[in-house]
Amino acid sequence: MAPASKQYLGNIWVLETSVAYRREVARYLDLIRTTNAGNTLFKYINQRPQWMLIMPFHPTQKDPVNAYAYPVPGSEADSYAKYAFMMTPFKLPNGVTIEIPSGVGTGKGSMVYLDFHPATWRQRIKNTGGIAPGTGPGEILFHEMIHGYRMQCGLARDDKIAGHQRMDNIEEFYAILAANVYRSDRGFTSLRTDHWGFERLKKTDSYPEIFYDTFKKEIDDWFGKQRSFCLDMARVPAKFNPFRQAAVSLGLMNAPLTPMRL
Ligand SMILES: [Zn+2]
Repeated sequence: MAPASKQYLGNIWVLETSVAYRREVARYLDLIRTTNAGNTLFKYINQRPQWMLIMPFHPTQKDPVNAYAYPVPGSEADSYAKYAFMMTPFKLPNGVTIEIPSGVGTGKGSMVYLDFHPATWRQRIKNTGGIAPGTGPGEILFHEMIHGYRMQCGLARDDKIAGHQRMDNIEEFYAILAANVYRSDRGFTSLRTDHWGFERLKKTDSYPEIFYDTFKKEIDDWFGKQRSFCLDMARVPAKFNPFRQAAVSLGLMNAPLTPMRL
């Protein structure tokens, strides 16, 4: 018999491959909900007409430690921003991989699958002897749910960020930024640097005003597309909160709610 999907909250569902798996995922969803950042994300996910289904990530030899969010088959174009090019990696005969456009987004929004297993990340923590910034199972889930939320909204883009190759693309930047705010909301001071690993962000780069200066264009653009979500994120009382920096700079908020210095 095929495993059943069980509703966790609103649009958020978990595939019950086993009761243990569903409960384990629910435990991390509960943890995320204890934070302002998590509450905000869940609230906006639940305002969409589309659902999000969390199911186990299956490790392979080539891809042992990972998690993914992706649109349900057939709705990829709907997960992308209207008129945005969908880029697909293509390997040339000489071994070089390039990215070629394989379609154009509709901006309608899609339903989302999310491959995630908390055990993957707990094992990594055991193997490496610590929780590197961004590798806590709850943070990984939060990161993937940001990807998923933007697909639900039909806003995904493959754009690169000039001068920041290690971010890979704008969606990874947004997921890392929001997960860092979630992390800070939980009281952590070390932050994840980029998408090529889980290195700790340099202290000098982790002042929200400096971070915002560096990525002003990208963060302002997110405000332009999802002002209400970004403003609610700006109200999260985390020490590291570039959303707040942006809201103040854009004249949408009067003054920081907490001291600006870490
Ligand atoms: Zn990601």
